[in-house]
Amino acid sequence: MSGLVDGWAKETLSSLEARHLKRSLEPLESPVGARVRIAGRELLNFSSNDYLGLANDPDVVDAGRAAMLRHGVGSGASRLVVGDTTAHQSLERALAKFEGTEAAVLFNSGYAANLGALSALFGPGDVLFSDALNHASLIDGCRLSRAQVVVYPHRDVETLEALVRAHPGQRRAVVTDTVFSMDGDRAPLAAISQVCARHGLALVVDEAHATGVLGSLGRGLGELEGVTVDVHVGTLSKAVGCFGAYVAGSEALRELLINRARSLVFSTALPAAVCAAAERALGKLQDPVVRARLHQRIGQLAAGLGLPADSAVFSVVLGEADVALAASARLREAGFLVKAIRPPTVPEGTSRLRVSVSAAHEVGDVERLISAMGFLGGAVASPHPDPLPTGTRKVEWA
Ligand SMILES: *Cc1c(COP(=O)(O)O)cnc(C)c1O
Repeated sequence: MSGLVDGWAKETLSSLEARHLKRSLEPLESPVGARVRIAGRELLNFSSNDYLGLANDPDVVDAGRAAMLRHGVGSGASRLVVGDTTAHQSLERALAKFEGTEAAVLFNSGYAANLGALSALFGPGDVLFSDALNHASLIDGCRLSRAQVVVYPHRDVETLEALVRAHPGQRRAVVTDTVFSMDGDRAPLAAISQVCARHGLALVVDEAHATGVLGSLGRGLGELEGVTVDVHVGTLSKAVGCFGAYVAGSEALRELLINRARSLVFSTALPAAVCAAAERALGKLQDPVVRARLHQRIGQLAAGLGLPADSAVFSVVLGEADVALAASARLREAGFLVKAIRPPTVPEGTSRLRVSVSAAHEVGDVERLISAMGFLGGAVASPHPDPLPTGTRKVEWA
């Protein structure tokens, strides 16, 4: 062994450390829930994406257990070989029904769905218009497609349209998160869809943080704004509380992805148990009572923090990475798990606390968090770029 790799790793790590950007893992000793246990200590958790508290729901766990007893743990191969099961097909039918689309196709994660779908659909000669704050998996999917990528300023439909006029191409599409994962704000989807219609573009949306959260049926922002899209990516890992993801759309899109999406073709199928659990969770997610409870908590937290109630994600931008880390540590001391989010997950100078709320939280949990976050105050003087993404605000504390 040359020790070369070890040297390279240490070099990069110490550079990360010097910039307060080094990250580390923290194993939970409990299921993920409103309360979690880390290193023997119980914390109120405001950092997970399990927005409806389904990740440890007894019925969902039971459905997974029953399928595991029937199908075993591993799926043994990719779906096209011998990894497909009745549980996969049943979940896909349930997802298509839920989304009101002709069809849906499973992927092993949201990350894999975006890579697979974008690279299967687009290639050289095509143009993808991508919001500046899109999730990394959309960015990587755009890159992998080898289409020309035109990044437009966050939520700026006017500039988007000017860019669309200036960039002809074979197949063109707008690609956007509907709820932005680190800001919690919403894409102006109706306006974007009009731009697509005017200029003959397809609309590709990632509803990861909106599925199960927005819309009276829980389909997401598209439903809320009455917008139909061409490619709808949803995850099973957030509000659904399980694992995996899907693309919902036409039957032809499903067939194409089964044939051409490399992250589907060349990867082992999800375990059947995960599919069965997700199908059960999808049923529970459609109960309006659970979602109403989430929206009560969202309203409560939005009012308490003085932020818009756009989604279950709240972003308090603090500026430099060390400032966000210090704020997170202070909350941790008080018994709250609110992780600091730093570059490259968010742009340089916009490190923040990302607070996510869940239907599993009690009114009192949210009240306590709001009061614990009081030290952040309302004073505004910190150095970070303007304009900040909407849905965020500047704060500084003594
Ligand atoms: C979390 C997330 C993904 C990735 O989904 P996974 O199932 O966790 O891989 C994709 N897109 C967006 C917008 C996300 O927030």
